[in-house]
Amino acid sequence: MNILVLNSGSSSLKAALIDTVSGNTRLELSLERMLDQPIIKCKGTSFNLVLEGRKKLLEKALDHLKGQCSDHEIHGLGHRVVHGGEAFSQPILIEDEVEKTISDLAKLAPLHNPLNLLGIQVAKAAFPSMPHIAVFDTAFHCTLPKRARTYALPKELAERHGIRRYGFHGTSHAYVAELAAQHLGQDLRQLNIITCHLGNGCSMAAIEYGRSVETSMGMTPLEGLVMGTRSGDIDPGILIYLKDRADLTLSGLDDLLNKQSGLKGLSGISNDMRDIIEKASEGDEDCRLAMQVFAHRVRKYIGAYAATMGGVDAIVFTGGIGENSAVIRHRIAQRLDFMGALINEDKNTDVELSHENPVADFAMNHSRVRLLAVKTNEQLSIAQQSAKLIAEENKVNTLPPIPVAISARHMHITQETLEELFGKGYQLTEKKPLSQPGQFAANETVNIVGPKNTIERVRILGPVRSKNQIEISRTDEFFLGIDAPIRESGKVVNSPGCVVVGPKGKVTLNEGVICAWRHIHMTPEDAALFQVKDRDIVEIKIENGERSLTFGNVLIRVSPKYKLEMHIDTDEGNAAEIGRNAMGALVLTSKEAHLKSRRI
Ligand code: AMP
Repeated sequence: MNILVLNSGSSSLKAALIDTVSGNTRLELSLERMLDQPIIKCKGTSFNLVLEGRKKLLEKALDHLKGQCSDHEIHGLGHRVVHGGEAFSQPILIEDEVEKTISDLAKLAPLHNPLNLLGIQVAKAAFPSMPHIAVFDTAFHCTLPKRARTYALPKELAERHGIRRYGFHGTSHAYVAELAAQHLGQDLRQLNIITCHLGNGCSMAAIEYGRSVETSMGMTPLEGLVMGTRSGDIDPGILIYLKDRADLTLSGLDDLLNKQSGLKGLSGISNDMRDIIEKASEGDEDCRLAMQVFAHRVRKYIGAYAATMGGVDAIVFTGGIGENSAVIRHRIAQRLDFMGALINEDKNTDVELSHENPVADFAMNHSRVRLLAVKTNEQLSIAQQSAKLIAEENKVNTLPPIPVAISARHMHITQETLEELFGKGYQLTEKKPLSQPGQFAANETVNIVGPKNTIERVRILGPVRSKNQIEISRTDEFFLGIDAPIRESGKVVNSPGCVVVGPKGKVTLNEGVICAWRHIHMTPEDAALFQVKDRDIVEIKIENGERSLTFGNVLIRVSPKYKLEMHIDTDEGNAAEIGRNAMGALVLTSKEAHLKSRRI
């Protein structure tokens, strides 16, 4: 498909017509300097416009674009939208209700969403018969666990104003993580990756088995790393202090933190890392410090994210600085030997990325953690996501419903552990069969002892397995005093352990306690019917009386041994007030998922 990608920002509009199969850009247009000397650049030529209202300028640019596009078939438009709030976790066809939600979200992103929306409205008028798709910067981070997305502010206040961490640059983080996984020849959902998007705006993400579990930008794109002109993390007390001492108004503080800080503020000369590196090499102390503060902050986050995920397989560098600056990559990645990341200085210096070679590995051959520079391409990603949605939007959902089951806390056990707890040669005995063929709830139960409390009579599920695994709910983990990660069954590496007590003994497990990732079991035949594959992530909508709930981030598990069923834990079941015999529907289009449905 040919998708016209539009990014309507504060002082510019960028447009690109992209062939989603070859990845080639067929046409590019930009409208720049909208606020002082508007200029359109297209096909190597440029011409000035008279300074007039933003809407008029956009109309002229799109009119020109339309003329230029006439030689090409266009299948739809993809719009970059900065803030999707809690409403949007994936791209969506822009209908009136969606426009209204994007407009409502302006309260969270007053500098971005209104301008994105204006671009959408002008483009809809220019291309009225085309599908227009919104792709959100925040969407990829919708999987942040509560503990990572919650600020320590009074709950009621935070909820009333939508104050939480959302994260940004999601399209780029997701795109480069996928390219990195392909380069490593592995499924992204088998890897723990730290992505560093270092451009004019900078952010990082911890991507655990394919899901964003931490990211450095927060409610706004101001939090986290040092950026071109943004401060990133500072002590919020400084604002209170400055308000009185420096007599700064709120808009003065806004300007200070967003436009006068970061590399620009530190160096006193430029927001561009190239200028700073050059001056630093000539001996400018302020520029040297700017580079040091910049790299130190990224290193600090790498350590934090490695700890968050309990290990890391690859660290990815992208964005203008991450892709192009060997000096900054060196400053960040040196002395990470302690965590198994060994930089190869020659390879780092030689990194040269292109469309044809978008990934370069600059770690030593024997480095356990791979260090990768990856060329990001947000426009291509927006085009591909839009094309996928356009192809799906016409589908009619005639799929069968999926039974939903609530799984209570339980333990999977090895024969060895079973014998330690119940005596030599002990065999599990069946209490009742489970819905998944061959599996059963055993008569045997154990006590799970955590640092804080004990949960008694936790049922063992049979038959025995090759690894011990205890699946508990969020409520259970808090009661036990354990921070368990959300994992798919079988992925217990770096999870916490506990003590398990049986009638004949007790065992201390070093790992194995997880909160189960909500999932659907299905056979290969079901998978063909639903057009999904093993380990895909889908959304499921459950109609529950008056209410409609959409469960995002549901993992597909395919095996000939399975029977079609979705499993959620007791907390999720309670939160959604789902009882027995509930049925879910696979969401085919984002419209089905988002409108008139609460997301869980
Ligand atoms: P982006 O926002 O991803 O386009 O990144 C833009 C920024 O990347 C610029 O402001 C520069 O600071 C930085 N950049 C681009 N090329 C280089 C380079 N060769 N060395 C250092 N920084 C660079």
